[in-house]
Amino acid sequence: MTIVDIASDLGRIVHPDYPEWDAARGTFNLLIDQRPEAIAFPADDREVATVIAYARRRGLRIAAQATGHNPGPLGSLAGTLILNTSALTGVSIDADARRVRVGAATKWEKVTPRLSELGLAGLHGSSPDVGIVGYSLGGGIGWLARKYGMQANAVTAIELVTAEGHLIRTDPAHEPELFWALRGGGGNFGIVTAIEFAVHPVRELYSGAMFFPIERTSEILHAWTDLLPALPEEITTWATILHFPPLPSVPEMFRGRSFIIVMAAFLGTEPDGRELLRPLRLLGPEMDTFATQPPAALSELAMDPPDPLPYWTTTALIDEMPSAAIENVARIAGPGSPLTMVQFRHMGGALARHEPGAGARATLPGHIAVFGLGVVPEAAAKPAVLAELEALSAVFAPHRVGDYLNFVEEPADGSAFFDTDTWNRLRRVKALYDPDDLFRGNHHIPPA
Ligand SMILES: Cc1cc2nc3c(=O)[nH]c(=O)nc-3n(C[C@H](O)[C@H](O)[C@H](O)COP(=O)(O)OP(=O)(O)OC[C@H]3O[C@@H](n4cnc5c(N)ncnc54)[C@H](O)[C@@H]3O)c2cc1C
Repeated sequence: MTIVDIASDLGRIVHPDYPEWDAARGTFNLLIDQRPEAIAFPADDREVATVIAYARRRGLRIAAQATGHNPGPLGSLAGTLILNTSALTGVSIDADARRVRVGAATKWEKVTPRLSELGLAGLHGSSPDVGIVGYSLGGGIGWLARKYGMQANAVTAIELVTAEGHLIRTDPAHEPELFWALRGGGGNFGIVTAIEFAVHPVRELYSGAMFFPIERTSEILHAWTDLLPALPEEITTWATILHFPPLPSVPEMFRGRSFIIVMAAFLGTEPDGRELLRPLRLLGPEMDTFATQPPAALSELAMDPPDPLPYWTTTALIDEMPSAAIENVARIAGPGSPLTMVQFRHMGGALARHEPGAGARATLPGHIAVFGLGVVPEAAAKPAVLAELEALSAVFAPHRVGDYLNFVEEPADGSAFFDTDTWNRLRRVKALYDPDDLFRGNHHIPPA
């Protein structure tokens, strides 16, 4: 894409009447029709500060965006300038210190393979295409979360440009209140230009997936939920109902087929991993990809789509999945369902422990995180997809203990993600650093 220079001190910026406009405003969700006032692509910290000053002069609010993987919560972008961070690149890895520093543009795919070669892993999630900054500011739950917690709490320093245009470094010793708020409070406090975080050695990893025919959804979900209480923190399992679309880009063995899949990542040896998963393997999966793998294999384990899609979602954190709920899920998401995916992630372990020094998103409630997604390839498919997402949400309503901010893809009341003390503290930090509410983050935190 050619971006037009409109002012040398402002960097590159695109307006609605520019030919680049439609490409610039696109996001990962093709159903989101973003219409901000302008989109700026600053190339460095100084240009970020200039864009902030420009927006203030014109009475615009600012939304940071890296990959556009979660644009829905922003809602209408009238009166808003998007500050796209895609030019703020850079990755450096200190293997001895087990520390990584990345620019705000960086996706996990730029870091995970390099770490893997060093026998290290970051706390990335299911998709290598997601931006590290956005993921980290909202929490970040992935394959190693039960053992090591959320990525937000692996963050060791954050650099950002404030509403006043100052570049500041936040860490436990510098601007500690802001450092606390950023780790869970999202993009509400400034434009993050770089982030530093700790990574973990991975000596042994046994991971893979067992594929069962979709008709066995109820049986497999019962077996999976029965197994969870016996699993140590070293293993994280997800059960996923997946209807693969009949597209040429999908590998032939999956194309147009539907499965209930149990995936797992175990930080341990193959014999121990096999023993932990024995009850599931005894059920006779149609395909079984488990093996000792390098850490980079976790990037692809969930088989997330690499390209933008038109879709709607629903999500919940639940405390239990009783038999009746399983039967309803099997009915709603089973053979012939208009939904594309329903995923259940085993939570708990480190996700439930409040470690000293944690950020605003210190823990997440719930035993299981549910995430449902329906692709809407054409307008006619929308009513059926929305009806089934609503039905799914109703199944989990009696068991819902909260919501996870990064998984909520529509505008929501930010206070719902935090307890009252945390929410009030976040609002006080917002009032200190952004009293005019210049920054629109996912999800919005108004100043106290
Ligand atoms: C396919 C897919 C898989 C996913 N898997 C997981 C998963 O396994 N685990 C998980 O926890 N989440 C997951 N997510 C959710 C993901 O973590 C959030 O959507 C996250 O917000 C994406 O960040 P981004 O920068 O890529 O997206 P963007 O839409 O570019 O940004 C999202 C938000 O991040 C903030 N932000 C981004 N950059 C900056 C910046 N430089 N300064 C200030 N604020 C900033 C802003 O508030 C912005 O609105 C997934 C999402 C998708 C689409």
